[in-house]
Amino acid sequence: MNEHAKNSWEQRDMQSVFHGFTDLETLNRNGPVVLTHGEGIHVFDVHGKSYMDANSGLWNNVAGFNHQGLIDAICDQARRFPGYHAFFGRIADTTVALSEKLIRLSPFEGGKVYYTNSGSEANDTVVKMLWMLHRRNGQPQRRKIITRVNAYHGVTVATASMTGKAYNAEFGLPLPGFLHADCPHYWRYARPGESEREFSERLARNLEEMIIKEGPDTIAGMFCEPVQGAGGVIPPSEGYFQAIRPILRKYGIPLIADEVITGFGRTGEMWGSVKYDLQPDAIVASKCITAGYFPMGAIILGQELADALTRASAAAEEFPHGFTAGGNPLGSAVALKALEVIETEGLLENVRRVSPRFLDGLNRLARHKHAGEARGVGLMGAVELVADKATKAPLDGRLQIPERIANKALEKGLICRPLGQAIVLGPPFIITEAQIDTMFDILEETMADVFADVG
Ligand code: PLP
Repeated sequence: MNEHAKNSWEQRDMQSVFHGFTDLETLNRNGPVVLTHGEGIHVFDVHGKSYMDANSGLWNNVAGFNHQGLIDAICDQARRFPGYHAFFGRIADTTVALSEKLIRLSPFEGGKVYYTNSGSEANDTVVKMLWMLHRRNGQPQRRKIITRVNAYHGVTVATASMTGKAYNAEFGLPLPGFLHADCPHYWRYARPGESEREFSERLARNLEEMIIKEGPDTIAGMFCEPVQGAGGVIPPSEGYFQAIRPILRKYGIPLIADEVITGFGRTGEMWGSVKYDLQPDAIVASKCITAGYFPMGAIILGQELADALTRASAAAEEFPHGFTAGGNPLGSAVALKALEVIETEGLLENVRRVSPRFLDGLNRLARHKHAGEARGVGLMGAVELVADKATKAPLDGRLQIPERIANKALEKGLICRPLGQAIVLGPPFIITEAQIDTMFDILEETMADVFADVG
């Protein structure tokens, strides 16, 4: 049991908050980290201890924790018009301006934007959009959704079913009709002697077989993260999207890019879809859209899908779906400013500038004898730990090595994330090369300490 003083913030948290995605044993042992404020890429706890956040919160606080321009944008909007909905054809002017900007920034020639409060809600909404679209197009049987092993698309009932990770078992998910294709992780899943291109082509053949077996006219759509994030930062194998794209076209299956993590610069391009040439029919965005200062999800529908959905909605008299706070003007104001900061105040440029230093740091960690693979792109990366480098045999999960590394790093003032057998990093876009060096110095030292402890 932890030894936090009675009535401390830690005790108050433990008595009043039910934390999600939290190992309760660790929480009981170490207590929560209760934060008061942030400065740049650091956050501060109630005792004044500072932590470098190498995960930008949850990938989203990309402009740091106290960006004055963002704070002013939200305060100015709050003084003028703090809240309104987007039902019944009503909307705040700021939300219209944001929609224009999102379409301009997107890879689409034109289109429309639909707003939610989170990435999960946005993906969930797209599922309903696709179901309604196919139903109105005389194909009501087109209901199956394809995602991939290791995908993360959210936590609602539908999006948890889309998520290809172990989180589902506790809830008796996935629901029927949610299919998981192969994960394009070459290092982990390639056959001996198989080239990266051959691997991508094999996965594409498997996908086509799955589609044919299920019945092409039963598939509503496929969702892909350009780089799988919560799956452990898995960039696609070479040629993967080029191999699967024609197959989806052949069977009339829309491709939805889940850019909740990769959208707005994380890979060094504004969109992961552009970096990896996905040519999606719609993009789902969230997280960085408001730089983490307000809850917001957005679906950017490409022109063709937007037109088709507009027709379906006209036939049904409406798209019968919406969230009270979707398109809230406070979120829109801060999103407009965040996109300006990313696009024109040098954040995207900084990701490109410091990314080589970040990737060098990952390679530095890869020299450790228990580092099986270091992988990354832009400012997202992971080091996967193994028992044996040559055989890639996984570590004994009971040792909880990644968790121990994250806990020890926390003691040293660094927040990083254990995910499966990997340590995952996604620092804010404003990070400097010197801060990157500090981050990897701490991690290198921590890995050495933890492996020395376990022997
Ligand atoms: N999609 C991806 C790729 C994500 O990484 C996440 C969250 O991490 C989600 C969807 C869900 O977003 P939210 O947590 O805002 O519901």
